Amino acid sequence: MAELTLNAVGKTYSGGVKAVSGVDIQISDGEFIVLVGPSGCGKSTLLRMVAGLETVTDGEIHIGSRLVNQLDPAERDIAMVFQNYALYPHMTVRDNMAYGLKNRRTPKAEIETRVAEAARMLELGQYLDRKPRALSGGQRQRVAMGRAIVRQPAAFLFDEPLSNLDAKLRVSMRMEIRKLQQRLGTTSLYVTHDQLEAMTLADRLVVLNGGRVEQIGAPLEVYRKP
Ligand code: ADP
Ligand code: ADP
Repeated sequence: MAELTLNAVGKTYSGGVKAVSGVDIQISDGEFIVLVGPSGCGKSTLLRMVAGLETVTDGEIHIGSRLVNQLDPAERDIAMVFQNYALYPHMTVRDNMAYGLKNRRTPKAEIETRVAEAARMLELGQYLDRKPRALSGGQRQRVAMGRAIVRQPAAFLFDEPLSNLDAKLRVSMRMEIRKLQQRLGTTSLYVTHDQLEAMTLADRLVVLNGGRVEQIGAPLEVYRKP
C-alpha cells in the first residue's frame, strides 16, 4: 500500500507522437482512481508507463518514496490486470496465480497460503486444477484478479479489465472488484471507456484529453460540469 505520484509525466513515442504531456496526479494510499477519455487520449500509454511496460520520456513516477521510472516492471511492486486476462494457457489456475510469486522466490508455503486465500475471496476454490480454456470469461477474469491479489502489491493497475465480458457480468464483476479493493485497501488506477463503470468505481476521476489532464475530481463533480 502506498501513494502513487505522477509528476509532469510525459511520453513521446520514438516516431514523434506525443501521447501524454504534463500529467500531474497524486493518488492517496488506498484511493481508487479511474482514468477516462476518448480513444487515443493516452490512457493506455499512461497506465503502461506506471506499469513499466513503456519508458517514461518526461517527468517522474513515485510509489511511496520510491522513484519507479527506472525500475524493471518486476521491481515496481505493482500488479496489472489486462483486458485479455493474459493467462498462461498451459498452466492450471493454481499455477497461473502462483507464477508471479514463484518468480520472486516467495517460499512455497507462503505461496500456497496466498493462493488459497485469493481463491476463497474470488470463489475459485473448485477450479484450481483447471486450465483457463475450461473456464468462463468471468472466471478467467477472476483468475487474473487472483494473480494480482496474491502479489500483495503496493498498487493495482487495471487496463479495461471488464470490456470482454457481457453486460450482466460486467456489472457483477465491477461490484466484486470494488469490494475486493476496499477490503484490501490497495491503491488503484483503473482505465475504462465505460462511463457507468467509471462512476461506480471511482473515488476520483481523471479525464484525459489529447494526452493532458482535462479534469480531475469526484465522479459527480466531473459529470455535473457541462
Ligand atoms: P488510449 O488508451 O486512450 O486509447 P493510447 O495511449 O493507446 O490511448 O494512445 C495515445 C496516442 O499515442 C495515440 O495517438 C496513439 O496512436 C499513440 N500511440 C500509442 N501507442 C503507440 C506506439 N507504440 N507508437 C506510437 N504511437 C503510439
Ligand atoms: P494495449 O493497451 O496496447 O491493448 P495491453 O495493456 O493489453 O496492451 O498489453 C499488451 C500485451 O502485453 C498484452 O497482450 C499482455 O499479454 C502483454 N503483457 C504485458 N505485461 C504482461 C505481464 N506482466 N504478464 C503477462 N502479459 C503481459
